[in-house]
Amino acid sequence: MIPMVDLKIQYHALKAEIDQAVLGAIESTQFILGPNVTSFEKETAAYLGAGHAVSCASGTDALQLAILAAGIGPGDEVITTPFTFIATAEAICYAGATPVYVDIDPKTFNIDPKLIEEAITPRTKAIIPVHLFGQPADMTAITAICTAHKLMLIEDCAQSFGAATGGTMTGTIGSFGCFSFFPSKNLGCYGDGGLITCGSAEDAEQLKVLRNHGSRVRYHHSIIGYNSRLDDIQAAILRVKLRKIDEFTAGRRRVAHLYSELLGDIATVPHEDGNGVHVYHQYTLLTDRRDVIMAKLAEKQISSAIYYPIPLHRQDVFAKACATVSLPVAEEVASRCMSLPIYPEMPEESVRVVAQTIREALAD
Ligand SMILES: *Cc1c(COP(=O)(O)O)cnc(C)c1O
Repeated sequence: MIPMVDLKIQYHALKAEIDQAVLGAIESTQFILGPNVTSFEKETAAYLGAGHAVSCASGTDALQLAILAAGIGPGDEVITTPFTFIATAEAICYAGATPVYVDIDPKTFNIDPKLIEEAITPRTKAIIPVHLFGQPADMTAITAICTAHKLMLIEDCAQSFGAATGGTMTGTIGSFGCFSFFPSKNLGCYGDGGLITCGSAEDAEQLKVLRNHGSRVRYHHSIIGYNSRLDDIQAAILRVKLRKIDEFTAGRRRVAHLYSELLGDIATVPHEDGNGVHVYHQYTLLTDRRDVIMAKLAEKQISSAIYYPIPLHRQDVFAKACATVSLPVAEEVASRCMSLPIYPEMPEESVRVVAQTIREALAD
């Protein structure tokens, strides 16, 4: 049996350190905005090379709080990719703004910068690229567009912790970088968690107020805020795992490169931009025979998944608003993509078994 991810292997490898960290957090009884939260924020900002890092309750909240801190609201349009997890668009909608979808690059699956300018209107306030599957979006081109049109740039880094482009970590290029610590993400906690990076001290202060009931001083409330904090137990776990993140990334890249070597002649394997570091949150192929491959893998008890089967503009919730929208690349990729098991500790033998099973499926 080969799962998509195996969180147990990692827990068992780190059990002594994690158990000690969790027990320490419990013993301190500073459960909300405690010392591990402050330390984790500092350590993450240092690791990423970000000016500031403000943790919160989830990746979805990180996006929502960043969008609010950016001053985006009702009547505004925000350009993003249709080929992402729904949370990217949900966060735009929570603020009362409208997501405007721009088609993707067929090689990287990320928003295609060449198509962005024609989607800009007087109402456009921001661009939210997603570094999908751990591959950095084309930030040079996107940053230039944001500068030329005076748009905010918010990065969805939920799948890209540790990914870099041009020597710079994702999450430190735009005004805000939004991270998720959902358990299966590259840096995952043992529940929900998220974090926002930003360069401006003023923005960091605003995010801290927003995540804590609009309050800077206890029981003084300047704005309507939220209850969106990372708890100290999760921060304690994340501090242990942050110290290993480079090993995790190296493990994911090792698995991905072996898959690409074994499958490059029979499927379209992930493209790696030479200018960046892809951290392989997912390993996603394109093939015309997805059904045959997935059936064969299932028969051998090997997991596989489709990320994502339906682009956002074709989801029921957006279907009416996007009735006239046509994004052929996203639609084509959604119909041909499939993702294989990948996690940092995945044994080489398992990678070979998955690849061999795919070869057999295509030979049948
Ligand atoms: C996981 C994910 C999110 C949301 O993160 P949560 O922590 O689950 O709220 C947002 N955007 C993308 C691209 C994601 O993969």
